[in-house]
Amino acid sequence: MNASEIDFSSLQVKAYLIRTSIMHPVLEILGDPWNLKLVRSVADAPKKFVSLAEALKISRAALSTRLNRLEEQGCLARQQYCEFPPRYEYALTPMGDALRPTLLLLDQWNREWLHNHEQESAPVTCHHCHEALQLAVVCRHCSEPLALNNVKPLFFHDLPEHTPLQSYRRTRHTLASKERSVLPEDVSAEEWLRDRWSSLIIGALLFGVRRFNDLQSILDIAPNILSGRLELLQQASMASRREDGYRLLPRGAALYPAIIAMSGWGRQWLPAAQHSENGWRMLHISCGNWANHKYICKACNTEYC
Ligand SMILES: [Zn+2]
Ligand SMILES: [Zn+2]
Repeated sequence: MNASEIDFSSLQVKAYLIRTSIMHPVLEILGDPWNLKLVRSVADAPKKFVSLAEALKISRAALSTRLNRLEEQGCLARQQYCEFPPRYEYALTPMGDALRPTLLLLDQWNREWLHNHEQESAPVTCHHCHEALQLAVVCRHCSEPLALNNVKPLFFHDLPEHTPLQSYRRTRHTLASKERSVLPEDVSAEEWLRDRWSSLIIGALLFGVRRFNDLQSILDIAPNILSGRLELLQQASMASRREDGYRLLPRGAALYPAIIAMSGWGRQWLPAAQHSENGWRMLHISCGNWANHKYICKACNTEYC
């Protein structure tokens, strides 16, 4: 498809955007059940290995693997606090620190949409107005909210006939189930995004893919898995089924700001981003500028950085 005639509403374009999304490499890191918890745990202050093991109730072996990987990926740094014997504590690097808006937005979704929500981190207040901080994700240029119905991709190159789905290593994860005694409506924002199939389906629904067959072919997903996840999304009031297919309900669509935050983080910090989202950028239709985002406090509109 020639760059000048690319039509965002076509299924081929949607497939290209979904299959090459930066969210694939981002969720390889943030989709791990422990990684976000670890980043959250050291967000206030550096923590020692033993305190992390106690606080998260995780085995020493599993903790050490996660910490090493987060260090390799650049989110955490080890700082020596005792020379003899050598002892270390873990702190956020600038890359890890840049996850703060993502953590806040995930918390925000959980507070708003979960019935039984245990707050994972201490509430954050706005430095400016001192209200409990609630973030809005808006266009850096015109300060209007960024929503999928007011952005569109602009392509700089022709579109390939076929784009394979990016495959990244993702931790196996079980969503709501009888064995875990978790009800669909109690599945947290982190859990929806960490489940590979649910996050892909939510992404496709955000881009307006509606029909079962289209979801199946774009996501290369087995029909029984797709119908199982769609059933779960409906039970959780994340999506609904109408005559023209599936669409996200407000509860599902409300994950979009956190997804913008995660994608923005990936574009800035992940080397893998060079291979993702190649040759296109989102345009903010409302103002005609690139859809670069910023975070503002919902109470006083001051930028959060
Ligand atoms: Zn404020
Ligand atoms: Zn704008």
